[in-house]
Amino acid sequence: MKNKEIPYKIYLEEKDMPTAWYNVRADMKNKPAPLLNPGTHQPMKAEELAGVFCDELIKQELDNDTAYFEIPEEIRNFYRMYRPSPLIHATFLEKKLGTPAKIFYKFEGNNTSGSHKLNSAIAQAYYAKKQGLRGVTTETGAGQWGTALSMACSYFGLDCKVFMVKCSYEQKPFRREVMRTYGASVTPSPSMETEVGKRILAAHPGTTGSLGCAISEAVEKAVTTEGYRYVLGSVLNQVLLHQSIIGLETKIALDKYGVKPDIIIGCAGGGSNLGGLISPFMGEKLRGEADYRFIAVEPASCPSFTRGVYAYDFCDTGMVCPLAKMYTLGSDFIPSPNHAGGLRYHGMSSILSQLYDDGLMEAVSVKQTDVFRAAEQFARVEGILPAPESSHAIRVAIDEALKCKETGEEKTIVFGLTGTGYFDMVAYEKFHDGKMDDYIPTDEELQVYRDKLPKID
Ligand SMILES: *Cc1c(COP(=O)(O)O)cnc(C)c1O
Repeated sequence: MKNKEIPYKIYLEEKDMPTAWYNVRADMKNKPAPLLNPGTHQPMKAEELAGVFCDELIKQELDNDTAYFEIPEEIRNFYRMYRPSPLIHATFLEKKLGTPAKIFYKFEGNNTSGSHKLNSAIAQAYYAKKQGLRGVTTETGAGQWGTALSMACSYFGLDCKVFMVKCSYEQKPFRREVMRTYGASVTPSPSMETEVGKRILAAHPGTTGSLGCAISEAVEKAVTTEGYRYVLGSVLNQVLLHQSIIGLETKIALDKYGVKPDIIIGCAGGGSNLGGLISPFMGEKLRGEADYRFIAVEPASCPSFTRGVYAYDFCDTGMVCPLAKMYTLGSDFIPSPNHAGGLRYHGMSSILSQLYDDGLMEAVSVKQTDVFRAAEQFARVEGILPAPESSHAIRVAIDEALKCKETGEEKTIVFGLTGTGYFDMVAYEKFHDGKMDDYIPTDEELQVYRDKLPKID
């Protein structure tokens, strides 16, 4: 088995595509903390969530015990357009680095939305349609999630209303037009369309918006519009469940060639791609069947894991969402405007937060100029133009491979290449022109937001 020659790209056949998502919570001894009602501080019940989320998705959200959820045929049909996605053996990068390490990456950018987000968007749109809803609302920051959801909604004939963080709306007109091509309506946030938007604009007239603020608007719009629900592209348990397709395929591909990873690396914004990639491997670790190192990579300018606190916090600025226990910087935290690399959310998936707190996973933060240096190095040898978000994982994969060069260890490194960077050329331009700098918040700055965390006992 070991000696079988590994091809550059490991393509799986359609028939090898997983037929069920894997729910890592089923194997966690310490379950992630439940969502709390922001008024009563009691765990949210399905009935309370029903005005906001689709019924079937609520079931998935609250289920800590069922290990496998069958992927409905209609969703698998859509997946067939761009899945199984390739697992690539980065031989050109290995050679360039002169490392004895073996490097593999799972590439999720080979669909029009350009990222892994489509894996969950299509699932969420499907359950909304099946429930007989008219449409869904959401927020988008950099625009990948909004794009993915627009594609998914047009496939199932659902209305899609996107609140796009105002600075992205202005800086990324092409993303906006892709969404409109797929039939979505796109509103810059904060807007005058919602009460919470009006309130935020009154308090901060010049604001260019934030993810937390756009979430508040999207939720308000959903609960006040007949036949609408709200959907979210990361952080939630259901999203990690859908994204487990990434890890399941990766494992099937590696098993085919008898390859066992030592280190698995992913970038972490809200945690959905990383959670999805590591889930099946983490399951093995939790059941005592195998051991792996897992590394979450986050920006030094938005360091939820490495400098945040593990506490209940609001998921949004307007404080209309349930409280989630997570590693957080505080719901008012907004990364410095010169941070170009995405991954800007103030909190982190409850599942990953619990795994990290239990010492089952590591986290590192990296500076954005180092990230773009890695992105460029990668693009020049492996051909793919990586998204800045994905390049956080590339950075640490290269660093680990270079450590192997020093020690002579032949470790196997797997990382998630979540998407392509065609819409991020303004950031690349800044980097090339030497105009990109590294902003790292001080302890005093972070403390200001920490002090505002809700007090829950
Ligand atoms: C949204 C996004 C991320 C970060 O989100 P997670 O939920 O942490 O996975 C990473 N890479 C790309 C390309 C994205 O679009």
